[in-house]
Amino acid sequence: MELLHSEPALFPALVFLFGLLVGSFLNVVIHRLPKMMEAEWQAQCAELRGETLAEIPRYNLWLPRSACTQCGHQITALENIPLLSWLWLRGRCSACKSPISARYPLVELLTALLSAAAAWKWGVSIQTVGALLLVWTLIALAFIDLDTTLLPDSLTLPLVWLGLLFNLNGAFASLPDAVVGAMAGYGVLWSVYWLFKLATGKEGMGFGDFKLLAAIGAWLGWQMLPVTLLLSSVVGAVVGVAMIVLVKHDRRVPIPFGPYLAGGGLVALFFGADLTQAYLAQF
Ligand SMILES: [Zn+2]
Repeated sequence: MELLHSEPALFPALVFLFGLLVGSFLNVVIHRLPKMMEAEWQAQCAELRGETLAEIPRYNLWLPRSACTQCGHQITALENIPLLSWLWLRGRCSACKSPISARYPLVELLTALLSAAAAWKWGVSIQTVGALLLVWTLIALAFIDLDTTLLPDSLTLPLVWLGLLFNLNGAFASLPDAVVGAMAGYGVLWSVYWLFKLATGKEGMGFGDFKLLAAIGAWLGWQMLPVTLLLSSVVGAVVGVAMIVLVKHDRRVPIPFGPYLAGGGLVALFFGADLTQAYLAQF
């Protein structure tokens, strides 16, 4: 403990290494959670139809062990070291040499960097614990939404409760601000959704987006919702237009909003107070 206080860089460095391991686990969550949800839906549909599904092999976040998606080669412990293994294998499976997506090490690096930033900003404190849980869940949600346009309830809803819990003693916002933040976060996007639907007859976003903004409000308080929405809308609009223009992305195919909300939430977590203060200082 004393060493942590005398060496200010030691704690963030340790959290960085831990963040690499968590990032490696987040890759598993991002890959498997949507598949687990799909299997659950299929089981429920079969039950409604009165059928019994054939015994399905156990599949969860821990079983079976990770394997190459091309050849099924089981990833050994040595090949599972975050970042280093990918670099050592030069991004290829050791058995069949098919390329392994660079996204895996990038998610590990992103998780580690943001974790270290939280440790640096809040030091050895309850805020760091909370910020880490928030950062990790937001990363998982952003990439799951990117892949599947889903924001699983099993992540967004606990994130709402956890935010309120951490703010019982005002870790990031006062409890009243957090409660109002959760309700306003949900309510704002819910209203936008219905206005858009009444005006155009189309659905512009999913209910998962409401829950995600509710979670951000629960963690950071209602005061951070405008800056979160502003950041995510600006970045989302720029990327959306760029995709339609550059990649000829079909504009009818929805672009997930979750990654931008998560990104806006992360910026608000680290810089929200400074941004708001700088803005208010204008007057
Ligand atoms: Zn392989």
